[in-house]
Amino acid sequence: MARDIGIDLGTANILVYLKGKGIVIREPSVVAVNRYSGEVLAVGGAAKKMLGRTPASIVSVRPIKEGVIADYDMAEQLLRYTLKKAQSAAGVGRSNIIISVPSGVTEVEFMAVEQAVEKAGAKRHPILFEEPVLAAIGAGIDLKESSGSMVVDIGGGTAEVAVLSAGGVVLCKSLRTAGDALDEAIINYVKRERSLLIGERTAEDIKCTIGAAYPKPQEEYMEVKGRDLKTGLPKNIKITSTEISEAITEPVNTIVAAIKESLEETPPELSADVMDHGIMLTGGGALLGGLDRRIKIETGIPVTVAEKPMDCVALGAGKCLEDAKLRRLIYKNRNMGV
Ligand code: ADP
Ligand code: MG
Repeated sequence: MARDIGIDLGTANILVYLKGKGIVIREPSVVAVNRYSGEVLAVGGAAKKMLGRTPASIVSVRPIKEGVIADYDMAEQLLRYTLKKAQSAAGVGRSNIIISVPSGVTEVEFMAVEQAVEKAGAKRHPILFEEPVLAAIGAGIDLKESSGSMVVDIGGGTAEVAVLSAGGVVLCKSLRTAGDALDEAIINYVKRERSLLIGERTAEDIKCTIGAAYPKPQEEYMEVKGRDLKTGLPKNIKITSTEISEAITEPVNTIVAAIKESLEETPPELSADVMDHGIMLTGGGALLGGLDRRIKIETGIPVTVAEKPMDCVALGAGKCLEDAKLRRLIYKNRNMGV
């Protein structure tokens, strides 16, 4: 019998969990196509490598934007490639499929994901679960007990701040300020302050290496390659963590403000629980240097970074595949697509 499949359909990365096996696929959510013929040239890691360094005839697209399908055909291609690999690893037969969608998607968005998964070659009707719920489960929060918890999932295109209770979402704020916005802020800063043009991948590299949402005890620096705006020639500069902190101030403030607003809107009974349990950070953005510290200082609430923040949604889907009681609870409390 085929193993069941859990999919984290993220804006930056797509992950697949196979029941009984764990995470077996991890690929960037990128598709490279010929601009003119529409032919798919590469998917996943190979397509990401082409971002920003392709000839004019090739475009690399990220079909999942802001957490929902922005480019239907490309999303289907991405899912087709991923499902093919997943289903061949799952063995002969028809796998059940759980897939994540952002909390509060509209009926149209919900159906777009369902249909894309089906058209991409799923052998069964997929079950859609809300991302923050899966992230919480994957981070190790016990949703079977009814007390409230807060999860902040920071991905590439979206950040979601959710308060959960009794296996369902009580409130959720979705922001379009997440990892990509930090990269963009770094590109703009380096251009403005250092007259150097850098690409998205370089900006992401800087963020992951010396990015800080809270001043580092010791300043760090990094060599960066780009194109000098004045001479038009390639140039190397040294950039410091203090500069990057300054560069990302605005998007970081936006995320922190959304967390504070969510806390203010949380029903009092639940906010006491959140105070006790603290805030759980998941998604790749949780790895931003000092973000946990910054949120803790601004909210006065303890903050934990999940053990493997980028794996949480896939791990949560996996737990739902493995635990029928949990799966039923989550299914019953879904709050979307209706
Ligand atoms: P999504 O769920 O949208 O696919 P992920 O949870 O996979 O996103 O996270 C991807 C984001 O996390 C990217 O914007 C990436 O740059 C960011 N990221 C990964 N590692 C780090 C790090 N060490 N510091 C800051 N950001 C990081
Ligand atoms: Mg995600």
